[in-house]
Amino acid sequence: MTSQNSAGRSTRTAAIIGAGQTGVTAALGLLDAGFDVTLYSDRDQRALRDDVPATGTALEFGETQQAEAALGLDSYTARAPRHTGLSVRIAGPEREELIAFDGHFDGYVGVAVDTRLKADERLTRFLERGGRFVVEQVSPAALDPIAAANDLTLVATGRGGLSELFPIDAERSVYDAPQRSLLTVTVTGIGHDDSVFAHRSRAGGGHSGFSIFADQGEGWWGPYLHKDAGPSWAFLGWARPGSEWERRFAAADSADSAHRIVQELYRDFIDWDLPEVLATQTIAEDPHSWLKGAVRPAVRSGAGHTAGGHVVGSLGDTSAAYDPIAGQGAQSGLIQAQRLVAAAAVHDGAFDEAWLGGQYAAFLAARGDAANKVTRLFLGDPELADIGNQLFAAAAVDSRVASALVGLLHRPQPLLGIDSLDAANEFITGVSGEDAAALLARFAPAGRFDRSAFSSTLASA
Ligand SMILES: Cc1cc2nc3c(=O)[nH]c(=O)nc-3n(C[C@H](O)[C@H](O)[C@H](O)COP(=O)(O)OP(=O)(O)OC[C@H]3O[C@@H](n4cnc5c(N)ncnc54)[C@H](O)[C@@H]3O)c2cc1C
Repeated sequence: MTSQNSAGRSTRTAAIIGAGQTGVTAALGLLDAGFDVTLYSDRDQRALRDDVPATGTALEFGETQQAEAALGLDSYTARAPRHTGLSVRIAGPEREELIAFDGHFDGYVGVAVDTRLKADERLTRFLERGGRFVVEQVSPAALDPIAAANDLTLVATGRGGLSELFPIDAERSVYDAPQRSLLTVTVTGIGHDDSVFAHRSRAGGGHSGFSIFADQGEGWWGPYLHKDAGPSWAFLGWARPGSEWERRFAAADSADSAHRIVQELYRDFIDWDLPEVLATQTIAEDPHSWLKGAVRPAVRSGAGHTAGGHVVGSLGDTSAAYDPIAGQGAQSGLIQAQRLVAAAAVHDGAFDEAWLGGQYAAFLAARGDAANKVTRLFLGDPELADIGNQLFAAAAVDSRVASALVGLLHRPQPLLGIDSLDAANEFITGVSGEDAAALLARFAPAGRFDRSAFSSTLASA
């Protein structure tokens, strides 16, 4: 990789705080762009890989993979089991089986890679190329001399960490509390061929499966690349406040108990997928293969100040925390990292507040605002509920609308222009080539979803 330092320019220095996948990606990118980079982490490399759970499922699609490729990085599409679509089932408040569709990813694939694996491999490369790695929990006081000593300092300490240095953007942060409780567990025991989840889609285990219950929450299974077990599956569940699912999720205290809770959830609510779920097993070598919690979606400022007045930039979850329902957090952070690296490589002036603020505004316009809106759409935000109902019903009627709707997870930008039912209808008509009202007139409730006839003895695990 050649340095992008312009001739005659002295080597510029950068500090990145936080060695999650976003921080490591930015550190490696800046190093390759000719910066002298120091990466600070509260854990050493082994602990980052083996002593913590993955931050999230981190499913990412084409636009994010392109950002990684632009940095010369592997996006794992050759190593991870590929998602070629999303199979959706929606049940009403009385558990009536209403909507079923199978959206195909049109011209791109999804991959969900263990954040610990990605960060670990990129950290190894960073060290091999001469990056400096300092194991230290950086306090607000310690950040001050770091920011003073470096031309560019980026804070990528996740949702907690040093995020308080960056004020919340009240206009963009519409929720004052988490909208769901979350439970995840990663498992093996089923493969990814077309015999798995075959009742949902001809693509079988190539599609992830999403089930939505109006009153309880959502359950998702998707192909995953686990750091130790390799190709595997991840479950991710969302429970609405006060729901029976929320009570069940709260009881998880280990991978095995999380797995049991998920199997019971599918037995009691989502029986159409039950045989596959019963065939799964937890990953014995990774006690951290599960997670529970909640995310308050919030957008923070792109620039903050240390106690001594030095300017630092925010990155990844420190900039914006998304509920994972539309899979936007990891994607957003990686795209933001790539954009910052590309802009820093060609910038000749100071990395001051105006530069950091300008970069952040451009990122929000290019991706962040749309990522926020698609998250609100999938959360069923009251402001977008009618639009969502229209789009999901149309997806059940027309496969092109289904593909376009799931395509918003890859490129959420088209949603920015949809603020009314008329605009939603225009989108439906544009995608299907048919008048939206005529298309929607053909909608009929699913009646009864197909049930799985999966037998683990016949499937390759
Ligand atoms: C359940 C769940 C599912 C998800 N699914 C998806 C998905 O499908 N698709 C998607 O795009 N996104 C998803 N996300 C979001 C995604 O996982 C995160 O956006 C992403 O992993 C955040 O990476 P990060 O590097 O910004 O932060 P982190 O991974 O949190 O990394 C921050 C690092 O900084 C370190 N640190 C903290 N404080 C300090 C300090 N003071 N000094 C030094 N180091 C410090 C931490 O220990 C950590 O190593 C999901 C999130 C959750 C919770």
